[in-house]
Amino acid sequence: MTTIFRGNIVHTPRLGELKTIPRGYLVLEDGVIDGLYDHLPHRYDGVPVEDWGDRLIMQSFADMHVHAPQYAMEAIGMDLPLLEWLQTYAFPTEARYADTEFARRTYRRLAQELISWGTTRVAMFSSLHTDATLILMEELEKAGICGYVGKVNMDRNGGENLQETTEESLRETVRWLDSCHFAHIHPIITPRFTPSCTDELMRGLGKLGRERGLYVQSHLSENLSEMEWVRQLHPDCRRYWETYQKFGMWRSHTIMAHCVHSDVREQEAIRDANVLVAHCAASNVNLCSGTAPVREMLDRGLWVALGSDVAGGDHLSMARNIEHAIRASKIRRIESNWHTPFLTVAEGLYLGTTAGHRYFGAGNGFAKGDKLHAIVVDDSALPEGVRELTVRERAERLVYQMRQEFITAVYSDSRRVR
Ligand SMILES: [Zn+2]
Repeated sequence: MTTIFRGNIVHTPRLGELKTIPRGYLVLEDGVIDGLYDHLPHRYDGVPVEDWGDRLIMQSFADMHVHAPQYAMEAIGMDLPLLEWLQTYAFPTEARYADTEFARRTYRRLAQELISWGTTRVAMFSSLHTDATLILMEELEKAGICGYVGKVNMDRNGGENLQETTEESLRETVRWLDSCHFAHIHPIITPRFTPSCTDELMRGLGKLGRERGLYVQSHLSENLSEMEWVRQLHPDCRRYWETYQKFGMWRSHTIMAHCVHSDVREQEAIRDANVLVAHCAASNVNLCSGTAPVREMLDRGLWVALGSDVAGGDHLSMARNIEHAIRASKIRRIESNWHTPFLTVAEGLYLGTTAGHRYFGAGNGFAKGDKLHAIVVDDSALPEGVRELTVRERAERLVYQMRQEFITAVYSDSRRVR
């Protein structure tokens, strides 16, 4: 079956490359992208065209680091640094998800909001609660989102009502894994971060991950006090990343959020293992963690994508999070005496779309053979330009000015989900 979309096509096949096809065509054959055209080839004569007029057809977004339970405290409590923030706000909030009714209400709303902002792929942390995690996965699946969700493991340094025993943590993880039967939402091993997990738990999770062929996600070098704590907990490890490597969790497609203070050696270890850095600029500024050296990491060949990190991050919109990444890179430029180039809008868009989609096996931009992950955007409510704006200019403006109501249609895994 052939489906043809017409509109102003925008995509980022490579870092720094923003391609547009004004009033172009995107053709799907049996649910996979067959090609992009500025003129429709004759072989499609007579096939009906779904014409989006002057709207933009852009890639959907991928949020590679987000804490689902913290959605309930989004944009509240931004006055503390990481470790105090976790104890004061994040942990008490997460403890609430022992209540499955509350989890259902909150996660349904979260899934709907993600879609409304055009996010179709996620790598997400749940809380330590198995039942609430399954509810989260079910709600994401129902909303049409694709991706990975992790039941969080934490058997030390948790808050009141937010800690498991080692045995319980491993047993519940197995119960959770055995109950995951979703078409588009898959489990990912999720030790919260090194200070939350004993060696015994880390060992067990590493083993479970290897046995079941699962990816791993966690946090790395977000904040200086956190890093000092990790050094005390693992005096044998010279750098934070080794505390994951030690237990077999440092491998291809491991996602490490933040990496704000990763030095050259740690960056090289990330690159060599094909670990994905989930850069969360808004969160890093909100919690005064720092500004990650994204430009340096990209130049060194690391795989970097973006995360909202709600609720260290204050907003689910990935357009807004791209904007934060660009802004943070400019702050870094200013503070480095103009030595480091900042991220361009084209680069930011790549990090918020293609770089994340590649985690799920997608190609470059709207690539032939890929399932369609796209949004249709109507920017007609924005001011008229002094001359007709190019599609590129309109796409740039949308990074800064995206609104929920502009997103007219969302396609996820080639299904229309909004
Ligand atoms: Zn996080």
